[in-house]
Amino acid sequence: MITVQCARCDKKREALTEAPLPGELGEKLLKQTCEPCWREWVSQQLMLMNEFRLDPMNDEHSDFLDKEMIKFLTLS
Ligand SMILES: [Zn+2]
Repeated sequence: MITVQCARCDKKREALTEAPLPGELGEKLLKQTCEPCWREWVSQQLMLMNEFRLDPMNDEHSDFLDKEMIKFLTLS
């Protein structure tokens, strides 16, 4: 099992097996986010999408979600 020092929970835990997003953000997630925290974000994201009626295909909405993800997972 590959582990990662997670930025959010500050523990060495199971890493993601593949980048869930393309590009730079995906790289950061691989290096800074553990699998359990990623799953927490996935549920949080669903909540936000329902609450604000977000459409991930909409650029503005997807920017908003990226920013919320960076805050939630404390990516640097
Ligand atoms: Zn974590």
